[in-house]
Order: sequence, then C-alpha cells, then structure tokens
Amino acid sequence: MSRLMIIGCGGVASVAVHKCCQNSQVFSEIMIASRTKSKCDALKEKLQGKTETKITTAQVDADNVEELTELIRSYQPDAVLNLALPYQDLTIMDACLNAGVDYIDTANYEPEDTDDPQWREIYEERCKKEGFTAYFDYSWQWAYKEKYEKAGLTALLGTGFDPGVTSVFAAYAQKHYFDQIDTIDILDCNGGDHGYPFATNFNPEINLREVSANGSYWENGHWVETEPMEIKREYDFPQVGKKDMYLLHHEEIESLAKNIPGVKRIRFFMTFGQSYLTHMKCLENVGMLSTSPVEFNGQEIVPIQFLRKLLPDPATLGPRTVGKTNIGCIFHGTKDGKEKTIYIYNVCDHQECYREVESQAVSYTTGVPAMIGAMMVVTGQWKKPGVFNVEEFDPDPYMEALNRWGLPWTVCEDPETVE
Ligand code: NDP
Repeated sequence: MSRLMIIGCGGVASVAVHKCCQNSQVFSEIMIASRTKSKCDALKEKLQGKTETKITTAQVDADNVEELTELIRSYQPDAVLNLALPYQDLTIMDACLNAGVDYIDTANYEPEDTDDPQWREIYEERCKKEGFTAYFDYSWQWAYKEKYEKAGLTALLGTGFDPGVTSVFAAYAQKHYFDQIDTIDILDCNGGDHGYPFATNFNPEINLREVSANGSYWENGHWVETEPMEIKREYDFPQVGKKDMYLLHHEEIESLAKNIPGVKRIRFFMTFGQSYLTHMKCLENVGMLSTSPVEFNGQEIVPIQFLRKLLPDPATLGPRTVGKTNIGCIFHGTKDGKEKTIYIYNVCDHQECYREVESQAVSYTTGVPAMIGAMMVVTGQWKKPGVFNVEEFDPDPYMEALNRWGLPWTVCEDPETVE
C-alpha cells in the first residue's frame, strides 16, 4: 500500500496512471499533478469507479522548486514519478530532496533554453571532454548522488523503454547469459502507421531535437560521433518485417558504457520511413526545429514550440495507429569461453494498447515501465540511497513485472545480427 505523486499528464503519464490504477494493491493512492489541471481531472474522471486506487489531482508548475516542495510536503507521497519533460528533472529532484521523498523518471536532463550562456559554457566543456554533442546527458543528475546518499533517498533514472527496459535487458543478459558482454546493439522499431503525413509519437519537441542531432556510438572507451542519419542499416524485425534504421545518439549508451564492465561497443538504431525523414529535413532547413526565439509580429516565438502547436498531439494518435513496435537489444559476448549472441525484445501492438488504455504503443511502452520502476522503489525491491540507473539493480523482479503488466519479452538465441 503506497502513495505515489505523478508529475505531468501527457501521453506517457496517462498510461502510467492507468497502470497504477490496475495495480492498486501497490498504488493505493496516487496524485496526478501537472501544469494543466483540467487534463488531470479528465483522467481521474475516466478512471474513478473502475479502480480501488484513490486518485487526487493538483495544478503545479514543475519549474518552480518551492511550489513543488510545498505540494510534495502536503501530499506526503512515498515517491514522485516525474513524467513531465526532461526540462523539469532537476527542479523535481531538488523538490524531492527538500521534501525527503524518493524520485523516479524516464528521461535524462536537457535544458529548455539551449542558448542559456551559463548552461552553454558547461555544455561546450562537456562536448570537448566527452566527445559527443547531444544536449542531454547524465552528468547533471549523477551530480546529485552525494545529496541523495546523505538524505537516505533513492533516485531511479530512466525507467521508460529506452532507456529503461533496454537497460534492464542488458543487466539480465549480464546476469544470466554472459561472463562478458562485448557489444550491444539497441534496436527501436516502430512499425506503426497513424495515417498522418507527419506526426511524432511522443512529445514533438523532445523527439525532433533527438532525431535531428548528430548520431554517436561508444567504441573502445570513447564516443564516435556521426552526422545525423549517416549510418543506415536494414533489419528484419520479428512480427514487423524489414525496416530501415538509423544510428542515433541515445542516453542509455552513456550509462551502459559505465555499468556493463568491459563492454567494447554500444550502438542505438531507430527505424524511420523516408517520408518522415524528408519532412523533418525540410522543417529543419527552414528553421522550424530551432529552439532559439525569433520575433514575429511584436511577439517572441520559439520555432519548435510553434511547430508543436501545429502537429497532431501524440496523445490523440491512439485510435488511428495500427501495427506493432519491436524494441530490444542484441548482445554479443562470451560464456564459459564460448562466443554467443542473443536478442531480447518485446513486441507491442498499437491497437491492443489502445483497447486497454486508450493510448498507442509508444506511450504504452514507456508508461508501463514507468509504473514498474515506481513499484520497484515503493515496494523496497530497488531501494538504496543514491542516484542510480535501472541496470544497477537486480533485473529479475523487473523482468517478471514486464511479463505480468503488458510487455512480455522473448529471448532469441540465434538472431540476425547488425553489420
Ligand atoms: P507530453 O508532452 O505528452 O506530456 C508532458 C506533460 O508534462 C504534459 O502534461 C505537460 O503539461 C506537463 N508539463 C510540462 N511542463 C510542465 C511544467 N513546467 N509543470 C508541470 N507540468 C508540466 O510528453 P510525453 O508524455 O510524450 O513524455 C513524457 C516524458 O517521457 C518526457 O520526459 C519524455 O522524454 C519521456 N519519454 C521517455 C521515453 C523512454 O522510453 N524512456 C519514451 C518517450 C518519452 P501540459 O499538459 O500543460 O502540456
């Protein structure tokens, strides 16, 4: 029996809230707190009467540490699950420290304003030192380690699908299948079709920033950076079929490079159709992906935020998206002196997700692990003072929970590999 505060009420939060309500033995009470309270109330309205979980709602500005601290103190949750945007990670971590409550999220910190000179100075330094130019990285949140240790609190970072489930797959492979993992290829395939010429499956601003950035991978102890979409491969995904996929920088590479001992190479690939890439290139070329404000008719607007207003809300894609996702990892390494390769993956059907929780599979595959991560912390199965990535805990209870709560996985011991 526990009490969870969920911050944010978008596509991912909606799934996590549905799942907490299905799991009321663990989550007896939840609070949904977000910028737009009417969205929280509408979700509560939909679920109340169908669950034992007691739901309350609140308005909160998660950029404001004092306001957040006050709300957390007044509700007294066992943990806070951050499903707002990566921009709010640090303010929510600060508020959790102030209020003495555990913290959980699904995406690492990224600043909203990448022109902020103070942030930029640290960023430029990091680019030189680490060798990758992504706007997001773990250094900001890992820096809270000592504070969380001293406070006796747990911060669990990155419990979505990727990062999240993919990282738990790595810990599971390490524990049960390998003495030494040499390479990891993380493959994220969305074989779904929503019927729009162009839309993103989760927050457009975060999604487009990620996809239009340089790619990178980890090899022999350092980062190798590529041009955006420079490395392309084709893969025949179980239950989806052949798709083109492109190498991207992705946040779990950073933590897995640190936490999987001796790993030599980690790459991340995501599938994109040609139409998506052409739309994105065009938007980028005309400046619509820019995060720097421009003046228009006497008003300051941020192009990518304006674009977000024009694009379909990812939360509305559910009813019209058909097809499946397939996300997983190919591990190569040695066991008892012999080389081996395994592929652990989950397949998720967009329409089945919609029938269950009225969301498409991209929100579903993130919201379910968000609930599971919160469950690991509030039940004490994954609880120790400090700041941790998911692969630093025992993967077994999490893997069992994936099977139970809607994301069953398969281990293939003879997979197609990626060149
Ligand atoms: P949405 O944009 O759909 O939802 C974000 C929610 O946060 C909205 O309800 C928004 O409020 C709220 N919010 C934004 N700013 C504030 C603020 N200052 N104060 C309070 N609430 C705020 O995003 P998604 O649901 O698609 O994504 C949620 C998170 O999940 C993101 O961090 C994303 O990066 C992460 N993610 C992780 C994945 C993984 O596999 N690890 C995959 C996909 C997403 P409002 O309703 O008013 O706009």
